[in-house]
Amino acid sequence: MRKIWEYISARANYALSKKQVISLIMLVLLVFHIGLLCFFAFFSITPMVIMDIISILLYLFCYIQTKKGKNLLMAFNLCYAENMIHAVVSVLLLGVDSGFTLYIIAMLPLGYFASYNFKLEGKTVNPMFYVIFSVVSFFFARITSNYIEPLYSYGNKGVDRVIYMVNYVIAVVAIVAFFSTLLNQIRYLENLHKNQNQKLEQLSKTDTLTGLANRRSIQERYAQSEAVKESYALILGDIDDFKMVNDTYGHDVGDLVLKAVADVFKKAVRGEDTVCRWGGEEILIFLPGCPLNNAMHRAQEILQNICKINFEVEDHPAFHVSMTLGVSISTEAKDFMETVKIADDRLYFGKRNGKKQVVWDKVKE
Ligand code: GH3
Ligand code: MG
Ligand code: MG
Repeated sequence: MRKIWEYISARANYALSKKQVISLIMLVLLVFHIGLLCFFAFFSITPMVIMDIISILLYLFCYIQTKKGKNLLMAFNLCYAENMIHAVVSVLLLGVDSGFTLYIIAMLPLGYFASYNFKLEGKTVNPMFYVIFSVVSFFFARITSNYIEPLYSYGNKGVDRVIYMVNYVIAVVAIVAFFSTLLNQIRYLENLHKNQNQKLEQLSKTDTLTGLANRRSIQERYAQSEAVKESYALILGDIDDFKMVNDTYGHDVGDLVLKAVADVFKKAVRGEDTVCRWGGEEILIFLPGCPLNNAMHRAQEILQNICKINFEVEDHPAFHVSMTLGVSISTEAKDFMETVKIADDRLYFGKRNGKKQVVWDKVKE
């Protein structure tokens, strides 16, 4: 019940496919015409009984076809034409008061519905074709019925009114069903686009090899801190002799080493920190509100954890890598890029002085 309500109020998070919708329309119309057949047989309105037998066979054929995903547009057009002809014949035989003209109006949204759905598949279906068909059918039925007396009657005015109301209710249900299906489709597509945009946005901020943030996202992050004048520390690390790793074990092993080192950084960050791949084998952590001393301890911990990793490669003895890290704090510099430059100077001071270390105080050279 909740699902039906969600669907009717166009809040469903799924959409029926075009094939499902059209075969469902065929099934509903098949059942509906079986109902009509019983109804007309009860009142002995023979021409309508014959017409409904033909319609039932038509819908059975269309249902089987559409269920297989075949001839969707043909089935849809046949169903539209059948409804128009059925409505016109009913009005001519039973009079305007029987309410069958309501179906001609209720079918109108179906034209737009079809044109929207088939367009998604690249087929052009002009909704005006259906609109004109409806309008012509309506006026033909209305005007002609002014000149010819209905051939049949249910034999009672009260029955006429009940039939009119039943037809009205069915027409309303049909219109609601078309629109809720259409709105659910639109909503589903909107959600799909939203999710895809989010994924693209995420991808555009992520380094594919390491899964770390890229430079662009750290630039957004420091802009936030600078806007609220919040201090931050930076840790910039560069893998020692990484070229030798590539040369000795191959580029693929180099990539694995890079990923393993990136994982150590990922584990070392707090929720508010951002870790990014700054360059080839350089990783930068942005630590908002972190004093220099704490950042230095964090960098030392990272270095220890990197040195602990045991890399095992086929046909080679196991090996280890190390890193040199420079630490700086924003209060030492005028802006982000200068803070990076200080960390970078410290890092290269460390490289020149034996590597595998953390440098955080003023570089004296
Ligand atoms: P140092 O200790 O002075 O940092 O020496 P190094 O060999 O690490 O320094 P250098 O800058 O000379 O070499 C960095 C190497 O990193 C060169 C480049 O081919 C390699 N590299 C950069 N990005 C990647 C990557 O994504 N994957 C792999 N496998 N190697 C990379
Ligand atoms: Mg290096
Ligand atoms: Mg480097």
